[in-house]
Amino acid sequence: METIFERIIARKLPATILLEDEFVIVIQDIYPKAPHHYLIISKKAVPSLQQMDHQDLEIYMPKMIMAAQNIAKKLGVEDYRLIVNNGPDAGQTVFHLHIHFLAGRTMGENFA
Ligand code: AMP
Repeated sequence: METIFERIIARKLPATILLEDEFVIVIQDIYPKAPHHYLIISKKAVPSLQQMDHQDLEIYMPKMIMAAQNIAKKLGVEDYRLIVNNGPDAGQTVFHLHIHFLAGRTMGENFA
């Protein structure tokens, strides 16, 4: 079954897209937890970070991290937080690898 993010990539579901290339798509989170909350989504539908093989990691991770730099440049922000939730107990709800990009407010130290 397709993930929500595969449906967004295929334009079967609407989303506000900030950036897109061959490897990643960056969309606005529908339930933002900060003034700037974007999702950096790998175009390869791997369910979680832990399930990415080393070859995919080598390809996709630099692209995803570069996307974070590009979001910051585009928004004109210097400070931001990146989060990956790996598995249900870590808070993952969409099983398609993505990195949360959060900015625009002071972040607390509490990771609970
Ligand atoms: P996670 O809990 O780490 O798996 O993150 C999934 C994120 O996807 C959550 O922050 C949701 O708010 C977000 N989300 C779910 N559905 C959509 C959607 N259709 N468009 C944009 N963001 C979404």
